[in-house]
Amino acid sequence: MSSTDTIQRILFEEADVRGVVSRLDTSLAAVFERNDYPLKVRQLLGEMLAAVTLMSSTLKFDGRLILQAQGEGALRLLMAECSHHHQIRGIARLEAALPDAEHFAELFQNGRLALTIEPAQGQRYQGVVPLEQQSIAGCLEDYFSRSEQLPTRIKLACDGKTAAGMLLQVLPAAQGGSEDWNRIGMLAETLTSEELLGLDNESMLFRLFHEENCRLYEPELLEFHCDCSKARCEKALQLVGKEELLQAVKEQGGVIKVDCQFCNAVYLFDEQDIQSMTDISSAGNSTLH
Ligand SMILES: [Zn+2]
Repeated sequence: MSSTDTIQRILFEEADVRGVVSRLDTSLAAVFERNDYPLKVRQLLGEMLAAVTLMSSTLKFDGRLILQAQGEGALRLLMAECSHHHQIRGIARLEAALPDAEHFAELFQNGRLALTIEPAQGQRYQGVVPLEQQSIAGCLEDYFSRSEQLPTRIKLACDGKTAAGMLLQVLPAAQGGSEDWNRIGMLAETLTSEELLGLDNESMLFRLFHEENCRLYEPELLEFHCDCSKARCEKALQLVGKEELLQAVKEQGGVIKVDCQFCNAVYLFDEQDIQSMTDISSAGNSTLH
């Protein structure tokens, strides 16, 4: 296998610490070829996508994990998703040309970061933190310390073409061992973005942790995949209401076109489709299909 898009778990054999590293190349190109984003947006979305792959590997569930940064500034939305099959997709929404803002939090005014776990079965879970830190990694570390109280260190980098990330976390059942964590965390802190993007995982771990007993598991593949469908679009349309949809069909010459923003697939709905939609209710909340 020559794919560079992988996720790989790390275990520190003698410390109550686990970790994961991921790298996105082809899958990231697939996200970017569908939407033309400025470099700054590509970098941030790439970091979000790397982050969501790392976080999904720390959670055991079937379904998808969604990271969503929303704000009131020029950059309105960054959204990154990863399924338990390691399939990713993502989008960004800009309201205007980006200002020359230095930091992530400045691009999103009054921003917040939401993490949603959407299990294949059962209840959705959502946790939210304000975008108060200077980077996505900082906001996520904040999230973990507030919500899960698990000391976590996250490093993310994206140059607009490749994205990479590393997450280290104290094991949930860890008994003390804060010395190990402090030492490993401090070593991780010395990792530069260039190293994260440029080194292969073995070399990177050797460079950081050659004095630790640290094991790298087999790589698992990551890929771009959009699971949109006409049925999912229909669910989203149902939130609009039948009368309005029928009106829209009439105004738009007999069909409504719904584009998937993640993959640009187009779904068409005519009057008969709308009429045959079963119960159109106002239940549910507005999410992207
Ligand atoms: Zn799609």
